[in-house]
Amino acid sequence: MRVTAAFNKLLRLPGVNVANVAFAADRVVVDVCLRRRRLECPHCGWTTRARHNLQAHTSSWRALDLGPWKVTVRALLRRLRCQECGRVVVEAVPFARPGARFTRDVEDLVAWLATKMDKTAITRLVRINWRTVGEIIARVVADELDPHRLDDLFEIGIDEVSYRKQHNYLTIVADHRTGDVVWADEGKDTAAAERFFDALGQTRAHKLQAVSMDMGKAYPKVTVERAPQAVICWDPFHVVALATKELDVVRRAHWNQLRATADPVTAKRFKGARWALLRRPEDLSDRQHDALLAIKRAGGAVWRAYQLKESLRGIFDPDLRHSDVSALLDRWGAWAQRCRIPGFVKLARTLRSHRDGILAAVRLGLTNARVEGLNNRVRLITRRAFGFHSAKAAAALVVLACGPINLTLPHER
Ligand SMILES: [Zn+2]
Repeated sequence: MRVTAAFNKLLRLPGVNVANVAFAADRVVVDVCLRRRRLECPHCGWTTRARHNLQAHTSSWRALDLGPWKVTVRALLRRLRCQECGRVVVEAVPFARPGARFTRDVEDLVAWLATKMDKTAITRLVRINWRTVGEIIARVVADELDPHRLDDLFEIGIDEVSYRKQHNYLTIVADHRTGDVVWADEGKDTAAAERFFDALGQTRAHKLQAVSMDMGKAYPKVTVERAPQAVICWDPFHVVALATKELDVVRRAHWNQLRATADPVTAKRFKGARWALLRRPEDLSDRQHDALLAIKRAGGAVWRAYQLKESLRGIFDPDLRHSDVSALLDRWGAWAQRCRIPGFVKLARTLRSHRDGILAAVRLGLTNARVEGLNNRVRLITRRAFGFHSAKAAAALVVLACGPINLTLPHER
């Protein structure tokens, strides 16, 4: 078998024939020729037989490695004047996405890896820097995202996550029925929510039955304007998070008081108990469990605040019925009102004024666990995207990892 025929079989690049193979220091350079005569616009797919001029354009792409060898695919491309786009462009190739310096096989592999592996592992395995990985992901998501993913949305959640040390935000929209992230983009608050509703369009927005969100953000206003028929629900996940925050305020105040009045050992031991208070009891280590028992014995505001937080979390247990939740929520409010901890008294008032939206979330089965599960998944992925230079790439990674995309690996095609 000739070496060109062997590389035709090895690389399996659609639409081209291998014309020449040369070995350089660290790579194999494979020259290919397009089989088709017609020239195709890479942006719109318009085709023609007419070349714009005789000038040839040498392009190269990185293909999948062959063992330790990097593989560079090279082709002489022609130019065409696209009647649709109204400009002169270099023709498209069937084995790579427009503007890419990698073949489709490499990009699909990298995108798949990015949902499974951390940054260090990918960059070392594939020998591509992380910034480039971000660009690849943005391209793959734009290409593979199901255009119908916004079609049948009835119950959605809209939320923001901080990206890159609190300075940048992504707005994430999830379909509660499937648990998929269907939309993600940079920014937070009104502008981001409006961009989502623009993408959704009026017809689809009017099909929404419920939209869940965090209390006190800008999303409700936009939702009421764009989808007036939808019930606004307050995510139990965020409701519980508010109680956890108030508990932390009480804990810190107590710690500061200990530092000022008690011996340093007691203060230090109490500081170590932070996670015992903030984690859920079933996740505690033996030592944390002991720390919690000590806090219980000591009693006082810290223990009261802990009980309030845990009982509020218990109200959103998925096994409870809607009518139970309604009664328990009222009882919790009455208890919190009398607890003499200002933060919880205020929280009780907040929950009373948001009662309908909280109960709507429960009625629709938006349990704490479900929303929290998705939240954790999204946060894990955003942390991985820190090194990307753009929020767009980070948003693309979230959609890629948590969205309705089925990535096919090269050998599965
Ligand atoms: Zn075009």
